[in-house]
Amino acid sequence: MALTISKVCSGISSSVTLALNAQVAAMRARGMDVISMGAGEPDFDTPLHIREAALQALNAGKTRYTAVPGVPELRAAVADFVFKHNHVRYESEQVILCTGAKQALVGALTAILDPGDEVILPQPCWVSYPEMVRMAGGVPVPVYTTIEQGFVPDEAQLRAAITPRTKAIMINNPSNPTGAVWTREQLETAAKLAEEFDFYMISDEIYDQLVFAGAEHVSVSALSEDAYNRTILVNGFSKTYAMTGWRIGYAAGPKQVIEAMSAYQSHATGNPSSVSQYAALAALKGDQKCVQQMVRAFARRRNLMVSLAGELKGISFFEPSGAFYILLDVSKMMGKKVGGRVMKNSADFADALLREKLVAVVPGEAFGADRCVRLSYAIDDAQIEKAMKRIGEFVKNIL
Ligand code: PMP
Ligand code: GLU
Repeated sequence: MALTISKVCSGISSSVTLALNAQVAAMRARGMDVISMGAGEPDFDTPLHIREAALQALNAGKTRYTAVPGVPELRAAVADFVFKHNHVRYESEQVILCTGAKQALVGALTAILDPGDEVILPQPCWVSYPEMVRMAGGVPVPVYTTIEQGFVPDEAQLRAAITPRTKAIMINNPSNPTGAVWTREQLETAAKLAEEFDFYMISDEIYDQLVFAGAEHVSVSALSEDAYNRTILVNGFSKTYAMTGWRIGYAAGPKQVIEAMSAYQSHATGNPSSVSQYAALAALKGDQKCVQQMVRAFARRRNLMVSLAGELKGISFFEPSGAFYILLDVSKMMGKKVGGRVMKNSADFADALLREKLVAVVPGEAFGADRCVRLSYAIDDAQIEKAMKRIGEFVKNIL
């Protein structure tokens, strides 16, 4: 046997969003004034009462292994929280805490996919979805959507993607990278097809608290008993409570799926960090004013972004109503020269913008949207204004 890398791992590219984070950090360390609209990470500190709860947990010796799917009080608190926010009742045994929503998604896919099973991915979608599906032995089936249709697939598009191997659809509502929020009717269409062709729905609702401009977040699991029975709902603490580094998220769903995820997790990572679990408990049980404050800030930033993006010449965009991202269509810039190099795609655009104007954005190709770049507006208003001014100068020079 040769000392090779497995087929699965050699086919996986590492996360573009996280790689960009590292690149920005390295440039800043060299003294460069880079504005990062790259990886989506709230700029707020984790609220004080959550940090204090973690310290208390540490000092109380909560530093040992816990039950694999999480401590019972946190599983119960998650079930109550989901009931309050999504109007759908899960028992504690239907909840598993994981090392971030990322691990919950990988665990869910691993629990349900056999080699060659297909997973429908409405595109543009988050960079990690196709890789996660492949890591779990599945086959990603992209369904391309356009700005004109609000980046949500219609029934005909979904029907065309369904085959006898379809095992699941991944719904990201609100969506990273588009900022689209699915309407009840759009979710009903997906749920109807899932019932007709008998497949799972993995509903990633990590941005569920971040909805603006009159949009309403509806959880697909709350639509009907059938939808409930085939949905694996995934959420976490990274975005709502500014807890990206704590690595804590969860899944709620059919008992047999959660049990399978737990068995897998027991060998893969064991329980998520004990301290993070107690911090998460404080987040759910504590005053939610901190969330309201952050949501208000994101709503203001979203409006600022939309108005500044509207001033950019030669760029069109989709008005987001959720999450903290905006996709700018930069396809008119393709074929133009910057610094002696012709921009052929979104990666060239992002690269040139970073080199020339020190603004980091994510190339849309990472999300299946090569006409676009993604901007995260999880930074303060002054930074947003400065970044958009730099982008404005950049495109003015090109056109
Ligand atoms: N889902 C989506 C759509 C995301 O953008 C992210 C980004 N972090 C995650 C899941 C994972 O979040 P985490 O692992 O930090 O909980
Ligand atoms: N989910 C965020 C993003 O898309 C954070 C980075 C990551 O985990 O991919 O930028």
